[in-house]
Amino acid sequence: MRIVDIRMRTVPISRFVDSSIPSGGLTTTLIAVVTDVVRSGKPIVGFGFSSIGRFGQQGLIEERFAPRLRDAAFIDIADETGENIDPFKAWNVLMKGEKPGGHGERCVAVGTLDMALWDVAAKVADVPLYHHIARLGPKTSVKAVRAYAGGGYYYPRDDVGRLVDEVKRIRDLGYTHFKLKMGSLSLAEDLNRIEAVAKVMSASRNVAADAMNSYGRRGALEAAAALSPFGLWWFEDLCDPLDFGTLADVARRYEGPIAAGEALFSVAEAKLLEQHGGVRKDKDILLFDPVHCYGLPGYLEIVREFERRGWERNRFWPHGGHLFTLHLVQGLGLGGTEVNPFSFQPFGGLTDDALITDGRVCAPDVPGIGFEARTATRRAFADLLGGG
Ligand code: MG
Repeated sequence: MRIVDIRMRTVPISRFVDSSIPSGGLTTTLIAVVTDVVRSGKPIVGFGFSSIGRFGQQGLIEERFAPRLRDAAFIDIADETGENIDPFKAWNVLMKGEKPGGHGERCVAVGTLDMALWDVAAKVADVPLYHHIARLGPKTSVKAVRAYAGGGYYYPRDDVGRLVDEVKRIRDLGYTHFKLKMGSLSLAEDLNRIEAVAKVMSASRNVAADAMNSYGRRGALEAAAALSPFGLWWFEDLCDPLDFGTLADVARRYEGPIAAGEALFSVAEAKLLEQHGGVRKDKDILLFDPVHCYGLPGYLEIVREFERRGWERNRFWPHGGHLFTLHLVQGLGLGGTEVNPFSFQPFGGLTDDALITDGRVCAPDVPGIGFEARTATRRAFADLLGGG
């Protein structure tokens, strides 16, 4: 087989269903890796994108990483059968000549291409991605995984009313746990939002709050003290991602679970979090985004590093809220997955026919990641290929 084309495009992506609400100019880069393998009269194409919540990386992909893949001899990226791609070998090709450190956002560029390569590999193998990667996970096969809904951004008008509507829709879909944002209004206003959400979700123990790395030391400690009586499911991204001193101070005082790691993109940074961030292996949550962490090979390095340090895989709840992360949770036996049912369209959320039962979901049983089984995502990729 051969890679015959790599197409890409960067598009805006909104935190809101109503994309006219300002969303900070967020973008993501779509990738299509076109192969010469033909199934049912069509070439196999792998799709990927730069996950959500940050920015697309088309410049780096176009200038540096896609040419390495295009120029590689197939033998250098082939698996042992010689008839499929080995994404780990392809990853080595992508990283050829890259130096340690200076992660910047090149990790996102690599992770974007990596997602499309895993989609190709699972499609050529004719199995769902979670099945294709199950050899990298625990021996037991997981039928359904825990899932929670992310969302709860600030609405510019009628914030609490619209937030409550959003959470009711999410609860009615079958989610048992919800994560909302905090840290941009006064603490009193944020607590009011949390109370409103907790009412809909039955109890505050079903609610996580994400401060989006907004607090300094004093703010983080104040927020932690104010949140303590709520017994939240977890308290997330409470300070700058590299402010391990503040994180450790909060972890010493705050009894409930803390979630961290979403904005750390390499195993080197992850080690620092474990060594200096005060995170507790019996209760805290690790959020590393597999796409932002150099793709699945980089993410696995982090998982294995934490395992060596005595952590269980069920502490990992990857950031992202889309189909790729769902497959990884199911295939690798991780704790659970975020789902963005309404935010970050058309990439957030599950397939059109996905069922959420008591807060559990299954990855789609179609070859690859299954972007084609979600109408809005299928359209976005068809558009990239010029087919619709
Ligand atoms: Mg977060």
